[in-house]
Amino acid sequence: MKVFDFKVKDRFEGMRTGVVKTRHGKFKTPVFVPVATSATVRGLDNRDIDELGAEVILANTYHLHLKPGDELIKKMGGLHDFMGIDKPIITDSGGFQAFSLGFGMEHGVGKIANNIFLEGLRDVDYRGEKWAFVNDSGVRFKNPYTGEAVELTPKKSMEIQSNLGADIIFAFDECTSPLSDKEYTAKAMERTHRWAEECLEYYDRRQALFGIVQGGEYRELRERSARFMAEKDFAGFGIGGSLGKSKRDMLNILEWVVPLLPEEKPRHLLGIGAVEDLFNCVERGIDMFDCVAPTRWARRGHLYVSPPEGKPQNKFRIHIQNSRFRRDERPIDENCECFVCKTYSRAYLRHLFVANELSYFRLASYHNLHFILRLMDRIRESIRKGSFFELKKEWLGYV
Ligand SMILES: [Zn+2]
Repeated sequence: MKVFDFKVKDRFEGMRTGVVKTRHGKFKTPVFVPVATSATVRGLDNRDIDELGAEVILANTYHLHLKPGDELIKKMGGLHDFMGIDKPIITDSGGFQAFSLGFGMEHGVGKIANNIFLEGLRDVDYRGEKWAFVNDSGVRFKNPYTGEAVELTPKKSMEIQSNLGADIIFAFDECTSPLSDKEYTAKAMERTHRWAEECLEYYDRRQALFGIVQGGEYRELRERSARFMAEKDFAGFGIGGSLGKSKRDMLNILEWVVPLLPEEKPRHLLGIGAVEDLFNCVERGIDMFDCVAPTRWARRGHLYVSPPEGKPQNKFRIHIQNSRFRRDERPIDENCECFVCKTYSRAYLRHLFVANELSYFRLASYHNLHFILRLMDRIRESIRKGSFFELKKEWLGYV
């Protein structure tokens, strides 16, 4: 059986819809991939995931390596058996942590400056200490749970990801910060290129390996990295690392990189998934997204709403704690057809949130994921019908 297949179905301007086939089933693109950091989409279970129509999920190599351990997961039959899930699974490379635990945490920045990505590490006190050291062979971490040194190398990342047994895996990369200068970013990119070749040598042939384009916000580096990766025998490509200092920088990066990647392979923009970004990045040829935002925002009280109430300026969300929702009988989003919106009022959800009731986390996470997944359905449909720009105008107010 073929390990991986990607077929483009419809094209409109630079956008496309397609289908990815894996050993555990298929998914339609462009796709939003819910993140299951520690082998669970936080707050939800497999029945919810099925009902939501999520066709693929992404789990985190670094976190699972530390807890409960990839060896244990292998003994339990791999991630699919361990989680009891029969759909495509993606694992990231663990490289992002080299960045977020080292430089990123020191400076409090994420993929785009001023945007912190610390999902899964809330219980760890990382402040004031450098947690990760990068050299040419790999990254050394201090295990935040035990204090022991952990080494992650390209070969090791491939071994861990083989033990986890996901359908799609990522090559090990060094993810630089928006604050890294060009010289350092170039050095990290060269390292990522060497590591990519090592990963191609060692990866488990039962899995589909994606290479990651790096190069920070520097055009010359991004183009060099895209050309380098495009020539290699990867099943698809991630676009990772620092995406600059603003949303405009991120879109520039896509405009440089995407045209250099092979048409017939999927492109995954790592760690991005805000409503506005989904439109603007699909428009620039992105096929796959993953992001913790829907479930993380949900837990913090931010619930997605569609236009007209949801606007780009308010990031398409309301904060349920606001006292104006205390007696609000309306559903979270008038246009949403999820069971939460069909059953419960804003007043009730606000009560659950304020009372810190556990059911709040499930209901809120369910609605937010439903919202984003249905939006992706509509985006796919609009590409097929050639009405993408009408849909974008309806949501963002501009094309
Ligand atoms: Zn809903």
